[in-house]
Amino acid sequence: LTNDQLSRWDQDHFFHPSTALGAHARGEAPGMIIKTAEGCHITDRNGNRMLDAFAGLYCVNIGYGRQEVAEAIAAQARELAYYHSYVGNGTEASITLAKMVTDRAPDGMNRVYFGQGGSDANETNIKLVWYYNNILGRPEKKKIISRWRGYHGSGLMSGSLTGLSLFHKKFDLPLDKVLHSTAPYFFQRENVAQTEQEFTAQCAADLEEMIAREGADTIAAFIAEPVIGTGGIVPPPEGYWEAIGAILKKHDILLIADEVITGFGRLGTMFGSPFYGMDPDIITIAKGLTSAYAPLSGSVVHDRVFEVLARGTDENGPLGHGWTYSAHPIGAAAGVANLKLLDSLGLVDNAADVGPYLTAQMRAALGEHPHLGEIRGVGMLTALELVAKPGTREGFDPAAKVVPQIAAAMARRGVIARAMPQADIVGFSPPLCLTRAEADTIVGVTAEAVAEVLG
Ligand code: PLP
Repeated sequence: LTNDQLSRWDQDHFFHPSTALGAHARGEAPGMIIKTAEGCHITDRNGNRMLDAFAGLYCVNIGYGRQEVAEAIAAQARELAYYHSYVGNGTEASITLAKMVTDRAPDGMNRVYFGQGGSDANETNIKLVWYYNNILGRPEKKKIISRWRGYHGSGLMSGSLTGLSLFHKKFDLPLDKVLHSTAPYFFQRENVAQTEQEFTAQCAADLEEMIAREGADTIAAFIAEPVIGTGGIVPPPEGYWEAIGAILKKHDILLIADEVITGFGRLGTMFGSPFYGMDPDIITIAKGLTSAYAPLSGSVVHDRVFEVLARGTDENGPLGHGWTYSAHPIGAAAGVANLKLLDSLGLVDNAADVGPYLTAQMRAALGEHPHLGEIRGVGMLTALELVAKPGTREGFDPAAKVVPQIAAAMARRGVIARAMPQADIVGFSPPLCLTRAEADTIVGVTAEAVAEVLG
């Protein structure tokens, strides 16, 4: 097939999730057609090789092209491509992966329910939490609090939990029972006079106030990413998780840590919850679970929740929730091989080393740029937030597409970064195998692209 033929079929038949559909169908918004990838690099059908500083969508943690995972997938497909995991069935791969995940998860998190992607895992989580409260005889305790700028997927419930209006407006979301609390976004705090500690206290007070207004006996769970990802790569302000965790415990509100991005090494630790001293009841996992070699997600459940669910199903029969592809053997085989490589290649430690190096070098190169609002990062996550007027926090006119232009200027120089939605932020989330030399390339290209667009 020629590239022209593929581009035409793409235009005529391919419905892309996040593209202006009309423009794409008219051929005005072409994308790359990727052919191969290795390590941190992807190559398109024209032979353009690019450094992927976003690991796909924060997901190819071990890097591209690992033959060990490909072999594990092939072996699984040859031996047993599929059998369902309903009514007690499993496969060697899915059972082994459940053991490997729970061995790596925080203490007490000993059960995992496998799904396909992060969105469906969060749908599962909310159903588990609702059923949990039904079993405990408190059917009114059902509201879920998430946060503005949080991202939890784009299903009906997971999209409701997401705190970005882009994911609500067109679809009459959020659903009722979903509330959004203050984004822990220090740089864009309302009251610029607040210190970081004061801002943390404000976030905590806002949550307390919301709980008091709604009634603690109506609120089932708080769902949050340890570090906001898609909403702008925003690490929490100092003391945030300590303050929030205490409030949740006081009101008997479960904590769902959405670790779809932070799980499996991204912060330089296996999970993000222990990094911030969080004590979750459920952890959402996806992305790094298989490094995206095959789709697989999971809800990792603490014993204290599982025991209640087990009692409920003993008394009332099966859960009544599940997917054809729950614990798909090929995804599970990919997961097992992926987690082995994460360990044997020392990639979590590499993230703890090269990630902060990338952020520090970015500060050295761009920290003094007049349009630089903030450079922030944790582990292998870095963000540049730009401002329209030096010395302010004012954003650019969205019509000017400043950040997309910077991302495009970077792509022309062979580096893929992400123009974050609804913000003037360039995001970086490279594979965890990134080298210091590759980090230097990312920084150099970013500086050139910012200079090209903003001077
Ligand atoms: N939760 C978080 C924190 C995410 O970053 C994402 C995806 O980016 C999701 C959930 C949804 O995962 P998926 O796109 O696999 O449905």
